Amino acid sequence: MSTKPRTIRGMNDILPEASNTFRYLESVIQSIVASYGYSEIRLPLLEHTELFKRSIGETTDIVEKEMYTFLDRNGESLTLRPEATVGMMRAGMTNGLFHNQKQKLWTSGPMFRYEKPQQGRYRQFYQFDVEAIGYEGPDVDAELIIMSARMWQQLGISKIKLEINSLGIPEARASYRDALVEYFTGVKNKLDEDSIRRLEQNPLRILDSKNPDMQAIIEAAPMMLDYLDEESATHFSELRTLLDEAGVTYIVNPRLVRGLDYYSRTVFEWVTDALGSQGAVCSGGRYDGLVQKLGGRETTAIGWAIGIERLVALYKACGGQTPASDLDVYIVALGEGALERAFVLAEELRDAIAGIKLEMNLGGGSLKSQIKRADKSGAEFALVLGEQELIDGCIGLKPMRSSDEQINIALEELAEKLKQKLL
Ligand code: ATP
Ligand code: MG
Repeated sequence: MSTKPRTIRGMNDILPEASNTFRYLESVIQSIVASYGYSEIRLPLLEHTELFKRSIGETTDIVEKEMYTFLDRNGESLTLRPEATVGMMRAGMTNGLFHNQKQKLWTSGPMFRYEKPQQGRYRQFYQFDVEAIGYEGPDVDAELIIMSARMWQQLGISKIKLEINSLGIPEARASYRDALVEYFTGVKNKLDEDSIRRLEQNPLRILDSKNPDMQAIIEAAPMMLDYLDEESATHFSELRTLLDEAGVTYIVNPRLVRGLDYYSRTVFEWVTDALGSQGAVCSGGRYDGLVQKLGGRETTAIGWAIGIERLVALYKACGGQTPASDLDVYIVALGEGALERAFVLAEELRDAIAGIKLEMNLGGGSLKSQIKRADKSGAEFALVLGEQELIDGCIGLKPMRSSDEQINIALEELAEKLKQKLL
């Protein structure tokens, strides 16, 4: 007995209707980032496992339990990318993009994390990712945030708020770390298992805990902002001024640490409560130490990533619609010689009217059934070519979305007349 093929848990087929929405949102984002000077870069889905371990951090959720890691046929450990920043830095380094150069890059595509699948949290999900390399900020920090605010505005997304924080430079974070260790050690009997483990390895990560029972203890913990080094504090206050001037509202969330090790200074998250507990839609931050950590020169960098599935859900929750991508024309062909002529005509129309969305009836059928398909196709017009039309050198133009009568058009005038009607 054969069993039906199954999809892998947390990995979704994005069917045509959903794909339309994905593509629409991605195209809006693409054109906005292009208008700010960002260029596309396409990256492999696989990288050496070591790369992620070194950069994201051994004690982060991603590296500890979420990576899809396997040995290839050569015994090398490879990992499906869980995020895009690290691959982007690797690509910049291996292609010499960062030598005395500034870069503004974007990439998009699937990311893979072995998480517990639920609404808004999948094992294969899509991100749109931008990174600005070689800019010290805080101007670029502000611009990246302003650019994302423009996206929400253009998409009519309102149920979203911005949280920002600064993590300072590594030295400042080290003294903050000590303060956290002292505080959390004092309340150790109230910590959950995860947090106790993190207390040893990576106490900042406790602040990132999603366990509701931990929230009160976290609320009372010392705040990074009180431990900021002077330069980072200035950087942060300049960022806030730039955002204020630009009219971008935000909340300073001193508990925002983000789940990856490589961040420094500015971190931010656009969050919504319209999507249940999966509230982070766009997250980002500065990671000035990452390239160096990977063996490159000291390089400043900052970026953000949008979770496309969550963006789609939020867009819909805000009443967003996908612009119709309906057909313009459906060609109905009946009788002796009509199909052959119709094929030629279809190509002539595609040549004459740039971008026309035209579908040929395939597989024959009666007039009635072809018209039915034309209706179902969403086309605005059906073009009807039968034996009589062939003799008369004309074609029937039948409006499918209004009660207007079908009219006959001479074949030599068809392209011109149709063009006018489709304007
Ligand atoms: P979360 O706190 O929800 O786990 P994160 O901090 O792990 O998010 P990032 O690594 O910053 O997320 O990824 C950037 C964005 O990608 C997130 O803001 C979110 O929109 C999206 N994202 C992250 N993980 C998933 C997932 N498993 N499924 C769908 N979208 C995701
Ligand atoms: Mg996560």
